[in-house]
Amino acid sequence: MITTRFAPSPTGYLHIGGLRTALFSYLWAKHNSGKFVLRIEDTDRSRNNEDATKAIIEAFKWVGLEHDGEITYQSKRDEIYKKYIDRLLQEGRAYRCYMSKDELDAMREAQTQAKERPRYDGRYRDFDGIPPEGIEPVIRIKAPTSGTITVDDGIKGKIEFNVDDILDDFIIARSDGTPTYNFVVAIDDALMGINSVIRGDDHLSNTPKQIVVYEALGFALPKFYHVPMIHNENGKKLSKRDGATDVMMYKEMGYLPEALLNFLVRLGWSHGDQEIFSFDEMLALFNPKDINKSASIYNTEKLDWLNAHYIKNSSNDTLAKLLEDYDLLLSSHDKREILLDAIKDRSKTLVDMASQIKEILDTPDSYDEKAVKKAFKGEAKDILKDFKQKIESSQELHLPSDYHHMLERVVDEREIGFGKIGQPLRVALVGKMGGPGIDTIMSVIGKDETVARIDNILATV
Ligand code: GLU
Repeated sequence: MITTRFAPSPTGYLHIGGLRTALFSYLWAKHNSGKFVLRIEDTDRSRNNEDATKAIIEAFKWVGLEHDGEITYQSKRDEIYKKYIDRLLQEGRAYRCYMSKDELDAMREAQTQAKERPRYDGRYRDFDGIPPEGIEPVIRIKAPTSGTITVDDGIKGKIEFNVDDILDDFIIARSDGTPTYNFVVAIDDALMGINSVIRGDDHLSNTPKQIVVYEALGFALPKFYHVPMIHNENGKKLSKRDGATDVMMYKEMGYLPEALLNFLVRLGWSHGDQEIFSFDEMLALFNPKDINKSASIYNTEKLDWLNAHYIKNSSNDTLAKLLEDYDLLLSSHDKREILLDAIKDRSKTLVDMASQIKEILDTPDSYDEKAVKKAFKGEAKDILKDFKQKIESSQELHLPSDYHHMLERVVDEREIGFGKIGQPLRVALVGKMGGPGIDTIMSVIGKDETVARIDNILATV
C-alpha cells in the first residue's frame, strides 16, 4: 500500500505551492488505493497552530481533498522523539556535545581562516572524560564521515551527496532537550508508515540528513520524490508579488476548485499534451515519475482559460449555487437559464460572471459618456421611441427571439442597419457598450423594465 503525507509548517494559510504538493501526494496515494495523511509541523510553538490548521482544513474542504485518519501534530510527540534520542544515546549512535560558545566561535574562525566549510569537527564524538561544568549539552548524531549518500529520487534520478561536502555530526536535540527538524521529520515519516515522500525540491538538501536518521534507527527508507519549484514568468521562485499565494484567495477571486486543481496538476506534471483533466482522470493517470525535472511556470492566463472552461461546462444549478458566495441570488429568477446560458460562455471567473450579471439585472444609474455620444446620433431617440411603442403594445414577449423579432420589425420598417437601434438600445439597457445580445438582456429583465430603461435614457440624453 502507498501512504503519502502532506506536512505543512503552519503559516496561517495554505500556500498554493503547498496545495500542489498535497494534490500530488493525494493523487499518488489514491491512485494506488492507499492513504494520504496530514501532519502539522508545528515544532515552532510561537505560531498559532490552531488557526493555521483550520485554514488548511478549510482550503482542503474547498478543493475537495480529504486526509485519512487523525491529524498528527509534531508538538504533541515530544515523548516519542525523546525515546528515540535516548535509544540512540544508549546505542552509542548519538552523543552529548559540551562545546561552549567560545569553542564554537574559535572553531568557526579557524575554518574561515582555512577557507573550509563551516562544520562541526566531531570533537566530542568519542569523549568519555568528565563533562565540563555549567554546560547543558546538545545531542549530536554520529553521521558517516566519508563516502557518499545516495538519494534515489523518483523524479530526479539518483543523486549522490559527498558526505565530506554536506554532512557533519548534526544536532538532533538542543540543550533544552527539544528535538530538531530533520530528526523529527524522519521519525514521523517512518512511524506514520509513509513510504512515498513527495515534497518540494527546496527540501532536497535535508534528505541526506534524514537518511542518516533513518539508518541510525534502522527504519526502511521511503521513496523520495522532490518536486521542482513553481517559478514566475521571469524564472524566479513564485512569491506574493506574482499574485495570490493563499489558496482561499483563489476562491475569493472567483476560481472554481476544479480549475485550480487542473491548473496545479499541470504545473510540473504532464500526460501527453492533454490540458484538461477531470478529477477522476487525474486519479487514473497521475504518476510522480511523469513529473518534470525542471521548474514549472505559473501562468495566470492558463488558469483563467481553464476557469472559463470549467465555468462554461458547469450546470446552471451548480453555477447559481456557487454565485451565492458572490452575493448573487438567482434561485427565484424566472429567466435564470437564459441568463446563465448567455453569461457562462463569456466569464473568466465567478467574480467576473457575477458582475456581468449584475450589470444586466441592475438598472443603470449612469451612462458611459463615450457610448452615449457614439450611439445617440441622428434619429436614435425616435428609433428607440418607436421600438418602445412596439413592445408596449405587444402581449407575447418572453424569449430572446420574441424581442429579436421586434427589433427586426423596426429595422425593416425604417430600412436601417441593425446598429442604428442596437447601439442606443444597448446603452439604454446597460449604460455602455458590450455585454451579451440585447435580445437576451431584454428577455431576462422583461418588458416593463425594458420600457423603464428606455424611458430613463430618453429623459437623460
Ligand atoms: N514542513 C515542511 C514545509 O512546510 C515540509 C516538510 C516535508 O515535506 O518534508 O515546507
